[in-house]
Amino acid sequence: MAKTGQRKCLCCMDLFDPDPRNINRQRYCSNADCQIASKAASQAAWLAKPQNSDYFRDPVHVTRVQVEAKLKAEGEYEVFRQRQDADFISDFDREIKRIESKKI
Ligand SMILES: [Zn+2]
Repeated sequence: MAKTGQRKCLCCMDLFDPDPRNINRQRYCSNADCQIASKAASQAAWLAKPQNSDYFRDPVHVTRVQVEAKLKAEGEYEVFRQRQDADFISDFDREIKRIESKKI
């Protein structure tokens, strides 16, 4: 028997008590698997919105992701994230410029 204010989780279908601060919006319980399902559902809903279809699709973002992937493949990305020094950042900028110049 459901207590007053309880809600059925959209993932596990168990009854749960929503957080009082989020009582009108919470649709998933706090189980880890349900939180993962909640995150996946909210990301899918965000992606489905037409106004978000071009989000982070500018050439500069595409290039940034390509450079980060290259650095990760070479095992340099963590070094870059940790050091953030001027030489390494200028290498990063040079790499972005090199990739962008190839596209044109
Ligand atoms: Zn659940």
